[in-house]
Amino acid sequence: MTGFQFGRLKLEGPYPLRRGAWYRVTNVTSEAVVFEVNRRAVTVPRSLVEVVGGPPRLWTIVPRPVNAVRVPANWGWWYAVCPSCKHRSALNTAPQTMRCPRCKGVFRFAREERYLPGDWTPQTIPTRSSQQEPDRRSDSSGPG
Ligand SMILES: [Zn+2]
Repeated sequence: MTGFQFGRLKLEGPYPLRRGAWYRVTNVTSEAVVFEVNRRAVTVPRSLVEVVGGPPRLWTIVPRPVNAVRVPANWGWWYAVCPSCKHRSALNTAPQTMRCPRCKGVFRFAREERYLPGDWTPQTIPTRSSQQEPDRRSDSSGPG
């Protein structure tokens, strides 16, 4: 065995795995994948997991969960998850690469990203300003 496999959830589920984050795989069978999460073994059905053969080097672009409570509201409808340290980061634009504010790693975005439902390209990620609800602007430069 050379190196480790990594996997991430393809769908939401009642597992202690962060959406879009990669975790080290310790065992794979035809029916299940065993992750090492915080030094504990977590078993997830194989059909719910995407497995790759080496350390992932690409940001995961994650659609914001409707009921998200730990993701700041001003991040908009998408955020990125660091492939190295699992840090969540806001997306202001759709850059080619982005530096992780936590581990300082610089990673690309995956144009072939399959994490999202449907077809996704970086161009379709809305900017933060376009994601916000239309806001009554009361700071205009005067009446009218
Ligand atoms: Zn990081």
